Amino acid sequence: MVGIIGTVVNIVGGNMKTKTKSDKQRILDLLRKNENGWVCSMTIMRELFIKDYAQRISDLRADNHNIDGEKCTIHDHKPYMYRLNVEYNHDSLF
Ligand SMILES: [Zn+2]
Repeated sequence: MVGIIGTVVNIVGGNMKTKTKSDKQRILDLLRKNENGWVCSMTIMRELFIKDYAQRISDLRADNHNIDGEKCTIHDHKPYMYRLNVEYNHDSLF
C-alpha cells in the first residue's frame, strides 16, 4: 500500500513540473493583452482555467505589478475584475 501511494504522489508531482508556464505568468500575459483595461475574473477562469486567480493576483502585486481590483461592472455579478496599469518610465519621455 505504501508503494502505491508513493507512486501516485510521484505522478502528481511530475505533472506539476511539466507545466511550461506558471498560472501567475499566464494571468500576467492576459492582463498585458488588455493593458489599462479591465479583465473579469470569470474571463480568467474561462480562458485560463485558473480557479485561484485571486491568490495569483496577489502574487503578481507582491512582484510590484500595479494591478487594480474592483467588483465587476462589466457584468452584473459579484466577482472581481482586474486591470494592469502600464508602468510608465517617466524619464524616457524627455
Ligand atoms: Zn464580470
